Order: sequence, then C-alpha cells, then structure tokens
Amino acid sequence: MKQAFLAAVMALTVSTTSMAAAKPQVEHIHPTCWWAGMKDGRLQIMLHGKNIAREEVAIARAQGIALREVVRTENPNYVFLYLDTKGAPAQTFDIQVGKTAVPYILNERARVERKTYDASDVVYLLMPDRFANGNTENDRIQGMKEQELDATAPLGRHGGDLAGMTAQLDYLADLGVTAIWPTPTLVNDMPLESYHGYAITNFYETDPRLGSNDDYRHFVREAHRRGLKIIQDIVFNHCGSENFLFRDIPTRDWFNHEGHYVQSGYKTGAVGDANASQYDRGRTTDGWFVQSMPDMNQRNRLVRDYLIQASLWWIEWAELDGIRQDTYPYNDFDAMVDWCRRVELEYPGLNIVGEAWINHNVGVAYWQKDSKIAAPRNSQLRTVMDFPLMGLLNWVCDQETDEWDHGFAKLYEYLSQDGVYADVDHLLTFLDNHDTDRFQKNDEMAQDTTRYKQALTLLLTLRGIPQLYYGDEIGMAANKGRGDGVLRQNFPGGWPGDKNNAFTPQGRTPLQNWYFRFTRNLLQWRKGNPAAHYGKLMHYCIQNGVYVYGRAHEGKNICVIINGTSKQQTIALDRYAEVLPLRKATDVLTHRNVVLSDSLTLGPRETLVLEF
Ligand code: CA
Repeated sequence: MKQAFLAAVMALTVSTTSMAAAKPQVEHIHPTCWWAGMKDGRLQIMLHGKNIAREEVAIARAQGIALREVVRTENPNYVFLYLDTKGAPAQTFDIQVGKTAVPYILNERARVERKTYDASDVVYLLMPDRFANGNTENDRIQGMKEQELDATAPLGRHGGDLAGMTAQLDYLADLGVTAIWPTPTLVNDMPLESYHGYAITNFYETDPRLGSNDDYRHFVREAHRRGLKIIQDIVFNHCGSENFLFRDIPTRDWFNHEGHYVQSGYKTGAVGDANASQYDRGRTTDGWFVQSMPDMNQRNRLVRDYLIQASLWWIEWAELDGIRQDTYPYNDFDAMVDWCRRVELEYPGLNIVGEAWINHNVGVAYWQKDSKIAAPRNSQLRTVMDFPLMGLLNWVCDQETDEWDHGFAKLYEYLSQDGVYADVDHLLTFLDNHDTDRFQKNDEMAQDTTRYKQALTLLLTLRGIPQLYYGDEIGMAANKGRGDGVLRQNFPGGWPGDKNNAFTPQGRTPLQNWYFRFTRNLLQWRKGNPAAHYGKLMHYCIQNGVYVYGRAHEGKNICVIINGTSKQQTIALDRYAEVLPLRKATDVLTHRNVVLSDSLTLGPRETLVLEF
C-alpha cells in the first residue's frame, strides 16, 4: 500500500509538472488515493487547479467505476467528481482533465484488526511539538510560514516531533497507559502559533516539522507493536486561514458567514438547551472560533463529504484505533450524525470521543449516542468528555468532606446522577487536559502528594475511560491564568541537553519519581483488572467523611475506601457488606493485606484500593 501511495504521488507530480503551460494544472487532488471494498462505494474527488472547471472531465481505464456526477461551482478552480466504486476492484484509473490523464489509485483495504479503545484503556494525551524532539533537523522547514523556533516561548514552536514520540513509546508502555491521543499532527502552515495543530492547512498532509505521512504511520505501527493504540485528533469545525480551501474558497458557502469573520459565542450548552434562542445557537455553531480559523459550513454537502472522507482516509491509511473530534457542539449536528454513521459503517465499533466542553452532566449527556435528553435527536457519538467530573476531582480533595455539601459529598452527589448518561462506560474522564489548568496549578501545590494520590485513585477506579495529560505522571504544574501556551510545556528530557530527564528514573527528581511510581503502580494494576474497567459501580452515602464504593465484574471485585478528612476515622463495616465479599483483601496502593473485621480505622486522607 505504501508503494501504491508513493506511486500515486509521483504520478501526480509528473503529470502536473510535465504539462505545457496551457494545459490544466492539478494543484490538489483530494483524497490523494482511495480504497476498493468500502461498504459505501460513493467517492467524492476534489480537483483544484487554475481554471480546471473549464476543462471537460471524465474517467478512463476504469473497471466497474461509474462517474455519477460532476459538480462545478462559481469558482472555476474546482471540480468535484462523484464516483460510484461499489464492487469495483483495486486498480489505477485515469481522471481525464481536458487532454491530461491524472492517474488515481484505488488500493486494496488493509486487513488489520482495529481493537478501538474503551474503559479497559487509559489514554495518554500529549502535544507533539512539546513532548520530545527526536529530530532537530526538521525543527525549521524552509518555505514554511513560521520560521521562529524558541523552546522557551509559550506560543512558539519548540521542535517536538513524531521521531521523539516514537522513541518514547517504550516509556509510555512501561508507564502503563494503553492508548495515545496526540493533539493534531496535520500540517499547520500558519505564520503564528502553528505549534498547537488545530489550524490545519492541508487535511491530507502531516506537518513536516513533525515528520512525513509515512513517519506518522510508522509511529502508529510501532505503538501497535507495544500494545498501544492511537487515537487521532481531528478538526471538522474549522481550518487554518492559510488552507488553500480558504485562500481560494471553492463555493461562496464553504465557510460560515460567507467567509467573513464573525466570532463564535462559545456557548456550547446552547446547542442542546431546549430554551435557547436561535440567535445563541447560531452564534455558537456558525461563529468562528478565532479569526485565523475560518468556520466550515458542513451543511454544504461538498464540505461534509470532503471532511468525512478525510477522516476515513486516515483511519484506513494509518490503521488508526480511534478518533477524538475537536469542539464537537460547534459543528453542524446533522453533519456529525452522518459522519458517525459512516465511520460506524466502515469500521464497526471504532470509538469516537467528542469534545463537548460543558460543565454540567445534563449538557454533556445530550451529546452522547442514544441520550434520552436529546431524543428524538441522536448524535450517534459514542463517547463524550466528563468535564463536570474533571471540575470536581480538582477540588473535592482540597475540602473537608461532610455528609452533604463539601468534599466527597459533592462527588457522591454527582455520581448519584449517572442515570442521566446513556452509557457511563463511554465517558472520557480526566484530571486535566491541554486547555485547562494542570491538576497541579503550581510547583508548591505539587509538593502535596496526598491530593494527587486521592484524585488519581478516583480517576482510575471510577467508571469511564480515564485520560492522563502528559506530565501528570511526574507532577508537572501549570496555570491557565498565564495563557494556554504554558499549559503545554516541554516534557523534561525530551530536548537534547535537558538536565532533568524525566523519561528515566535516574534523571527524575525524588518528587518526580514519587509521582511516576505511584502512577505506574496504579496503571499497571488497572490494566489487568476488568472490575476496574467494566465493573458496575455501587457507592454509599458519605459517613464520617469517608466515601466507599465497589465495582464488580464477572466474579472480580474491587472496593475503594477513601477518607475525605484530615482526621483519623473509624468506620463500622457491616453497612458495606455488598461491596466487601471477603473478610480480607489486598490494598493495591501499598501491597499489604487488610483484614476486614467489624470496623476499620483510616489515617487522615488515607486511601485504600482493595482487591479481593
Ligand atoms: Ca524536531
């Protein structure tokens, strides 16, 4: 397949460079190739080039492929072909543009089993520019718009790349995470702040400063060899303003507000709010995120098909295990339903998590597949992000717990409302991510390891698919009050000459080693414990400031007993018989045996993860 892809690129290069000036120049052909044997055989091919629409367009040398429709728009530089490839064999055929033949390849589909990701996984979120610089030669690429390289500038490029990520796969496997979510790796040829990846300028090209498309696929394959899954972060809502689709807009309504900047209202809750005004909903979905990221109009079928195909292309080509979709509620609801259905059709079970940043469970629940709250609408989106839980886990461990309003009482109250979710096992749960304060807001806070011990234990033993943010495992601290760039600092040891190399035990500070060992112990334990993945949660009202819950799955039981106060607490155990199947257990955190007689005494803020 690699050879086939290269052949397609070379053939295209030859056909576009060897033509006489009067002949049509095909600057972009998207998708760059496709596959035979897709369940839905429809294929949109976009041709972009100066005055290309003035040429006759046809297909030739094709076996079993029908050209159903040729769409021309008011921009003569685009032609969209709609082909029917159902039942057609893998082949190379020609797209005839005037007298020029452009070869196009339908590959054989790869026969790889996609395991996807679920509650048995722990996801590791990292930002490629900031994780590890494995190749300093690609730090600057001649001809790209951002040439500044400054590893100390919060909004500048730092030089991290796919080579660095690939080199640290053994570190991640040893840590015990099972899936990696890198922020977007597609090219952002933008003059400023290109490091974050969310301003894509070509949906079919990896950012050369991270590596090539082949480097990306190599990274995925090397991850798979270590039992790690890869979740691709994609963006349908907007693109970078330097994308050729914005510099030379295909149709007047390709972008919302006809290509003019109108700022989004950012009120994501308004989309699912039964009482919302159309004004607020429209401002959220059709307003632009920022001026440098034009907002795509997915109600236009040309746009919708273009985006859906780009995502299928990467799943197929790079053998991906799952998807994370950016700024979910900002997209057109129905277009996203079409997308989820199409992914499900081609890759049954492939999990997608959508970023619906809403701070209450009713609002988040609206976005999940089969939500009763959204009915009769149905997003078809399997996994949503549990932002309310993130908020709670960031402060419940700082409060003295009482029975009603403080500390773990609030956590109990929140989890007692889980009935609002259509599928609690498909909530992505986390302490922080690249857009929030880090769990440790500053280095002084990170000195208090008890807080992390309790929050991480909750994260890794409650329901859902836990996600860590790179650096959580070494107590990295950052505060959003100082801007988004500082939340995305370099992982120590990822850059040549870093004195603190947190990828190795010898290179870590004693405090970093404590964080790493605590995190690794819980992650490695969780990997092999299905009760912590799929176990039905059963919890108890708070008593004596202590929160107790159990999870049981196919004969395996765990029970978490967590003291939410800074005082010693003694609890009677008869009340908890439903989650304590035996009189003795092992505490996963300390590896010691615990005898469960009539009562149990817990030290201040003590946490027990009991395995039976
Ligand atoms: Ca680099």
